[in-house]
Amino acid sequence: MQIEKSGRLKQLPPYLFAEIDKKKKQLIAEGKDVLNLGVGDPDSPTPSFIVEEMKKNLHLQDVQKYPFDNGSPNFRAAIARWHKRNTGVTLDPNTEIYPLIGSKEGIAHIPLALVNPGDYTLVPEPGYPPYRSGTIFAGGIPYFMPLKSENGFLPDFSKIPSEVAKKTKLMYLNYPNNPTGALADESFYRIAIDFCAEHNIVLCQDAAYSEMYFGNRPVSVLQLGGGRDVAVEFHSLSKTFSMCGWRMGWIAGNAAVVKLMGELKTNLDSGQFMAIQETAAYALDNGDEEVKKLRAMYERRRNVFINALKKLNLDIQPQPATFYVWFRVPQGFTSVTFANALLEKANVVVTPGNGFGPSGEGFVRISLTSDETILLKAAERILKFKD
Ligand SMILES: *Cc1c(COP(=O)(O)O)cnc(C)c1O
Repeated sequence: MQIEKSGRLKQLPPYLFAEIDKKKKQLIAEGKDVLNLGVGDPDSPTPSFIVEEMKKNLHLQDVQKYPFDNGSPNFRAAIARWHKRNTGVTLDPNTEIYPLIGSKEGIAHIPLALVNPGDYTLVPEPGYPPYRSGTIFAGGIPYFMPLKSENGFLPDFSKIPSEVAKKTKLMYLNYPNNPTGALADESFYRIAIDFCAEHNIVLCQDAAYSEMYFGNRPVSVLQLGGGRDVAVEFHSLSKTFSMCGWRMGWIAGNAAVVKLMGELKTNLDSGQFMAIQETAAYALDNGDEEVKKLRAMYERRRNVFINALKKLNLDIQPQPATFYVWFRVPQGFTSVTFANALLEKANVVVTPGNGFGPSGEGFVRISLTSDETILLKAAERILKFKD
């Protein structure tokens, strides 16, 4: 039998880093001490108060059953309390909040609820790949909004042709931003809200890094006037509580969008394990101190790494949020040639910026999800390689 890939999957762009991956595996097989600063997956374990709570919740009555629909009322109530405490926003746990099996699930699926074939979505680039693939799977057309350093890595809506804006159903934003580490302020969100209201576009703000900030708490688009008329936010426990593998997130905001997300999900999945939902409720209610510690840890790591690389005279700004450092490669290199050279000569893995979109060319991303000794070791090797 001939198995053929669907047109949908064929439309996705080819994987750019097959060669770098191959080289990495080869070096590891040769026994080289390869330092991986490529992946954004927290190294610190899930806080033990959460793990202990999970053990208890495994014994809850009926926990083995399908969770179905909008899941645990406790979880949704805890989410509402969390938004109230952190952003001052009052959300109705029954109509404005819906649990997700990790935020990626909602981010990648939401075009199926809002986008018809031939419609556009607005997608920031460099950016998280599911914005594009989710759009393509729904038959939509991603229109890319470049994030340029001269604009503070914010998109310029005036560059979007009006024919495109007219046929756009959904816009993705992601602040704090992966991969650039940038933040969006209130005035930017006000412009975004106006733009979306004018063109009837649902604003999907990916807030996966909302707790990974090093100065003031990032603004929530839902706390601004008109925010809830156009926007939903995607939240996640993955980065906030080192819980990537647990697959727990939520969508919050505009009730009509939340309802459609629910309608879609009822037809796709049956919800996340109830014991995890109950544990997530507990984490949100009791985790503020722990999150503060994680923030301080990433800030320390960021400073250690950037200070160690000072001698290189690279253009590295300490990013205000996320656990990534996004910086320009030295003169004479491209993203890929620099990443390749670091891998071969220093055995350090970094992510070439162009993998997140063409505007990422000339940058690389390193992830601060390794401890300080590893980051220092990596920095030393990078310095030596440059000599
Ligand atoms: C990690 C990440 C997510 C979230 O992932 P989940 O584990 O699915 O909640 C969402 N958006 C961005 C930009 C991320 O980097």
